[in-house]
Amino acid sequence: MKKRIAVYPGSFDPVTNGHIDIIRRACTFFDEVIVAVLANRSKTPIFTVEERLELLRQSIKGIKGARVDSFSGLLVEYMRKNDIRVAVRGLRAVSDLEYEFQLAHTNRTLNPDMETIFLMPGVNYVYLTSSTVREVASHGSMLSTYVPVPVAKALRRKFGGAQ
Ligand code: ADP
Repeated sequence: MKKRIAVYPGSFDPVTNGHIDIIRRACTFFDEVIVAVLANRSKTPIFTVEERLELLRQSIKGIKGARVDSFSGLLVEYMRKNDIRVAVRGLRAVSDLEYEFQLAHTNRTLNPDMETIFLMPGVNYVYLTSSTVREVASHGSMLSTYVPVPVAKALRRKFGGAQ
């Protein structure tokens, strides 16, 4: 039987426990979930693509079926090249809907054969964003309960500050 493969694309700058929650959920009904870091030149990330990949690698250890990759350019092209039909995105609250729908409909226009599916994270992660994690860390504090251990360590190395 053909493997059921999905891609979970995003910036992951850095990966949070909210992302991990979505990866775990997706892995329960896909054989393989490729967490794909978008190398987007228009943003100024705090971690390079290589650093984000390494943090993801360390953070998804033990999640069966999850693996990491990176891509640049259009998601639909990456999916076409790798013969993947399904993209997973996380929906935290209604506030995510507008942006996510816009993205999903644009992708569908570009490739009608692909589907975007949305997963809800556990309630603890509903208000968690990578940008909040970055902001707090840049002021020398840490949302340790909301990021994987390797990410907390990397943020401390970058910004110093409280444990
Ligand atoms: P992007 O820059 O593409 O939005 P992110 O890395 O911020 O990339 O997010 C990737 C995906 O994960 C998006 O669908 C986003 O809504 C979702 N996501 C981000 N944070 C969380 C969270 N705390 N819980 C669930 N999904 C999340």
